[in-house]
Amino acid sequence: MSVIVIIGSQFGDEGKGKVIDYLSQNADFVVRFHGGNNAGHTVVNRRGKFKLHHIPSGICHPQTKLVIANGVVIDPFILFEEIENLKKQGISLRNRLIISSRCHLIFPYHKQLEAIYESVKKGKNTPQPTGRGINPVHADKVSYLGIRLADLFHPKIFREKLKINLQIKNILIKAFTGKNLSFEEIFRPYLKIAEKLKPFVRETSIILQKALEEKKNILFEGAQGTFLDIDWGIYPYVTASSVVAGSINAGSGIPVKKINKIIGVVKSYTTHVGFRPFPSKMPAKITDFIREKGGEYGTTTGRSRQCGWLDLELVKSAVKISGINELFLTKIDTLTGLKKILVCKEYQYHKKKSSYFHLSTDSLWQVKPVYEEFNAWSEDISICRKYRHLPLNAKKYIERIEQLVKVPIKYISVGPQRKATIKR
Ligand code: GDP
Repeated sequence: MSVIVIIGSQFGDEGKGKVIDYLSQNADFVVRFHGGNNAGHTVVNRRGKFKLHHIPSGICHPQTKLVIANGVVIDPFILFEEIENLKKQGISLRNRLIISSRCHLIFPYHKQLEAIYESVKKGKNTPQPTGRGINPVHADKVSYLGIRLADLFHPKIFREKLKINLQIKNILIKAFTGKNLSFEEIFRPYLKIAEKLKPFVRETSIILQKALEEKKNILFEGAQGTFLDIDWGIYPYVTASSVVAGSINAGSGIPVKKINKIIGVVKSYTTHVGFRPFPSKMPAKITDFIREKGGEYGTTTGRSRQCGWLDLELVKSAVKISGINELFLTKIDTLTGLKKILVCKEYQYHKKKSSYFHLSTDSLWQVKPVYEEFNAWSEDISICRKYRHLPLNAKKYIERIEQLVKVPIKYISVGPQRKATIKR
């Protein structure tokens, strides 16, 4: 049996979709446990290219069950569309996909509220929402206003809850947009979509507890990245949920002591979307090179990502927070062709060495990165399948990262395809 957790060690977009596809070859279960359709994972293998938002990335292994556990927030229409799209691409999720009835649901008012908050904050000092209603749905969850998937199977209860929500939300929505949301336009379609999702809905914690007893292989698929975590990220430039390894407990009902291994996914450079302190930002010319070569545009929003050198102060902090035991280094092929590669090995604040944990969001704006410089390589490494095939400079880069982070790099991804992976 193995229980493995995959965690993004940066700001998301580390290539976790590919990593999960690769590591789930022997998994009995792949489990999503937090976030919603703000996550975007890309899986590329010989069956094609799949863009996923709700559905766990283990789709291409027919023996693998896919669990959307209670910690995930769902937009039921998007989820159903994803199921249908996968069917069209030849992937049937019948008897494979299991959705928790405890999942909280996204409603049209969540998206409207998100847009209203954004219009008032006008872009500055905001985490740049994805437009999916993710923050307001989490706010409703802790305000005891949330509507869960289970509620849709009890129309009387659903009616009551929806009425209360609209009574409150329509005051704000009317004030900002001049229009009310209609009860009927939400109520009926949600009842209908619930019937379509019903065959997939179960109590996922029971299934996962049983899987533990039967010593199955379970892979927990983290979405986003450590520095988007609601507590440990660079607040307020964060997501609405907890994304660190411990959140598998709240998000799925599996005890943390059952975890055998926590793998941190690290992209060979740093990217993020929007506005936040970014100490290791690259010069514009190198950003353009990396953005084009690495396809650094959001899977969910299409927004172009900011690019920076690998920031090991962040990776070291992610290791400490989640207890990461192994690293999966991705997109090292994107660095091919540069002359020099920099790595930020620590932070200086007011000319003194400092650490992520000592620094507030405000002070992170003033941090100076301390860089180590590496010679790059020009050989095409995307064809390498063994560590010894990599150019010497790539090996030096990898081994120095290991030394600085003090965690072994067990896997190196040299391309988007499953097979473009080196296991050490
Ligand atoms: P996630 O949010 O962490 O799951 O990241 P994505 O799934 O959005 O991955 C970002 C993109 O990088 C996707 O288009 C992947 O196919 C691609 N990708 C993943 N690993 C590699 C790699 O090692 N090299 C290259 N060139 N692309 C990769």
